[in-house]
Amino acid sequence: MASCTVCRDNDLASEWELDMQLCLRCADAYGVMPMRPARRPPVPCTRCNSLRFVRAIPRELTAAGRGSYVDRVASPMAVTYQHEYQTGPIAGPLALDPRKTYGYLEMYVCRGCGFVEWYCSDPENVPIGPQFMTEDIDYGTGSPFR
Ligand SMILES: [Zn+2]
Ligand SMILES: [Zn+2]
Repeated sequence: MASCTVCRDNDLASEWELDMQLCLRCADAYGVMPMRPARRPPVPCTRCNSLRFVRAIPRELTAAGRGSYVDRVASPMAVTYQHEYQTGPIAGPLALDPRKTYGYLEMYVCRGCGFVEWYCSDPENVPIGPQFMTEDIDYGTGSPFR
């Protein structure tokens, strides 16, 4: 049976683990998730005309937890975040969770010149509003220029 390519301790039992080549524990620790369908159209690099790219889901590295229980966390980068609010006796806004996101990002790195293009794999899921630090721009209707 195949084992995890990182820890080598855990057997890859599920189809998901076999696809990822990681056990669930390592995938969670490293913020690895399956690649979504590619979003960029198959056109040459706008800078150098190369047809070869590296497609990557970039991750952000951050810390989570309180006091002496702080863990480093790796998460796929996204456009914006969910707002969580705790009700009850200690009501208040909760810190943004790097894994509770809207709109996964992916980047295409041109193998020819290194130019990087960003895409969002699920733009339909991105909420719009100043509270999300997002704004709708539609260059097809009226003037967006201010
Ligand atoms: Zn592992
Ligand atoms: Zn290029």
